[in-house]
Amino acid sequence: MIKTRFTEMFGIKHPIVQGGMQWVGRAELASAVSNAGALGILTGLTQPTPEDLRKEIKRCREMTDQPFGVNLTILPTLVPRPYGEYIDAIIDSGIKIVETAGNNPKPFLPKLKEAGVKVIHKCTAVRHGLSAEKAGVDAISMDGFECAGHPGEDDVPNLVLLPAAANVIKIPMIASGGFADARGLVAALALGCEGINMGTRFMATKEAPIHQNVKEKIVASDERSTSLILRTMRNTSRVYGNSVAKKTIEMEGEGKTIQEIGPIVAGAKGKVVYETGDMEHGIWSAGTCMGLINDIPSCKELVERIVREAEEMIRGRLAKSLAA
Ligand code: NAD
Repeated sequence: MIKTRFTEMFGIKHPIVQGGMQWVGRAELASAVSNAGALGILTGLTQPTPEDLRKEIKRCREMTDQPFGVNLTILPTLVPRPYGEYIDAIIDSGIKIVETAGNNPKPFLPKLKEAGVKVIHKCTAVRHGLSAEKAGVDAISMDGFECAGHPGEDDVPNLVLLPAAANVIKIPMIASGGFADARGLVAALALGCEGINMGTRFMATKEAPIHQNVKEKIVASDERSTSLILRTMRNTSRVYGNSVAKKTIEMEGEGKTIQEIGPIVAGAKGKVVYETGDMEHGIWSAGTCMGLINDIPSCKELVERIVREAEEMIRGRLAKSLAA
């Protein structure tokens, strides 16, 4: 068992969190992760309406009696989303853990805090972590350049980002972006964090509710298989480097606007990739840690393996490297 301030604060057994992933963070995955002793997260905006989110939370509760949270990503969307109503659905459903991401969560904090919700804010820069800490969040999930989805615009990988953040952030912090195995967990602890967040790694599990082709593609890919899109709009997203990503970069190079690019990057098309396994149908998020993923275990097998190997590494190779 690896006990940290994060596991204590959130009442979980293992210091591992499943990242909020658009289209992937559904009840099947969140409940399996929580049942494995880590922290499962439902992705709020995967549900088309706040009412659907209420139903999904209820469905997840029927699948686990362990704590799980809900992610709310506040970034530009092609169709405006009623964030306030999603927050109401989360609070009314009795959820006690929320992962905010994308933008400063300050406007939503009074309501969440009043309802006794603990907030993990995912951000990509030390200054954003400090400002979220000041605003009153309970923990930070610091997301380095390696990550899937939105790495921000500073391009600082975790070997520097995490200790730089740990130097100044006082509340518990978990490490996100590039984590997929026990070595990552031990490194995160050494770099000043109290756990890890994993997205892509949890996509390649038996319970992830996505097509088998996606899981096999992750296993077959390596650390060079991603592309960065939407850089020209300062809304960079790391995605699988398929033909749609390459077309997007080409259109950006031609100075096309989001109105022109929107139809090909739309999340609605990415959703079809996960449903049908047609890997070239749209954009789908994936991180550089694909280079570390070689199998499709159950969430329980994965979480237990990571924690067991991390313990062995700390007690064994690392302890032994100290001169007597
Ligand atoms: P969507 O279909 O509304 O938009 C598709 C992409 O275009 C998203 O990356 C979005 O941020 C971007 N976009 C939309 N309008 C934009 C604008 N005016 N300027 C610049 N970029 C713009 O999004 P979706 O796929 O339904 O996803 C819903 C939300 O979840 C979005 O905010 C998206 O960014 C976010 N998301 C996050 C991750 C992640 O970081 N793990 C992964 C996928 C989606």
